Amino acid sequence: MIYLDHHSTTPVDSRVLDAMMPYLTDKFGNASSLDHSLGHEASIAVESARGAVAKAIGARSNEIIFTSGATESNNLALAGTMNRYRDKGNHIITCTTEHKAVLDTVKYLEDHHGKKATYVHVDEFGKADLSQLEDSITDQTVMISIMAANNEVGTIADIAEVGKIAHEHDVIFHTDAAQAAGHINLDVEAMNIDLMSISAHKMYGPKGIGALYVRGLKPRVRLESILHGGGQERNMRSGTLNVPGIVGLGKAAEVAIREMDAENTTFRTWSKKMLDSFEQEGALLNGHRTDRLPYNLNICFPGVESKAIINSISKEVAISAGSACTTQTVEPSHVILALGHDEERAHTSIRIGIGRFNTEPEIDRCTQLITELVPTLKNIAAQ
Ligand SMILES: *Cc1c(COP(=O)(O)O)cnc(C)c1O
Repeated sequence: MIYLDHHSTTPVDSRVLDAMMPYLTDKFGNASSLDHSLGHEASIAVESARGAVAKAIGARSNEIIFTSGATESNNLALAGTMNRYRDKGNHIITCTTEHKAVLDTVKYLEDHHGKKATYVHVDEFGKADLSQLEDSITDQTVMISIMAANNEVGTIADIAEVGKIAHEHDVIFHTDAAQAAGHINLDVEAMNIDLMSISAHKMYGPKGIGALYVRGLKPRVRLESILHGGGQERNMRSGTLNVPGIVGLGKAAEVAIREMDAENTTFRTWSKKMLDSFEQEGALLNGHRTDRLPYNLNICFPGVESKAIINSISKEVAISAGSACTTQTVEPSHVILALGHDEERAHTSIRIGIGRFNTEPEIDRCTQLITELVPTLKNIAAQ
């Protein structure tokens, strides 16, 4: 099986698994049980992983909170901030192409907590309209949440500019970096980021573990917790720490930062080669041509149902029609629609996500399968 669906999840890197293994077996201590050496060694491992995650985004160790993944980090960042700062205001600004973990949380805050939201539009390339964003800030605005890179079309946001606008207006800036962390350079200081969601399984770590960066200085961001209990993670996220998962996330971050540049050079070469071949078959690129995740390709083959392509090659190649969260339904992608395209385009677009363990022959094979298939499927559709 040629796996080219790395936006939905990535395999665990063997170096990550090796680092985790002792904490799934002999070193099973509870990182909060500091009365004995088993607890101590777990705690030391957690703190070392915290340092690795912090280093990867230019943060300090004590600014990293471990969660169960980017969904939880987004919920905690949005609900935790909006509710903690209720005396400041009730307004949040986000964007139409966000992941459901942001959009549905914002909707929940509107429906059940009396918050007001503005959904900033994006252009045809997936870039948020920054003048609309700045114009919609009021004295009630508590926070802005704009994703660092889109999980469907791969567009990389101008987050440094969003951060600058946010801080000029004393507004807290959250970014969902599930697709970006470990894949492109992120620096919470240079980009004025106050909160950042990270997921391990999007960067060759295990599922069910993630982190939330919470700025500690200038400004110090405070959160109302959404889980109540033992008071772990400085009272922001109760629950016994997932030590093997945390160790895995730390290792994944360390490896990603070291290998990112070389990996991206390869991914850019491969995705360009694929795109050139597809464009010769009449394909249209969705998203931004240059400001995109190097491992992403999202393309439309006009007149060819994405499901037909995906199903025809599924014995050999794993690709998808878009977000894994929406592929179970027949609803068109909200991201493709937000770019200003019609439902037809949404139903004829496929997403390819290249990854660390792919090889050039695999890329070539996938390209060949699709370019051979498209004219046939077009003929069938035309009949
Ligand atoms: C995968 C993803 C999430 C959800 O992350 P989990 O760790 O699976 O909860 C959130 N946002 C984006 C952009 C994602 O790609």
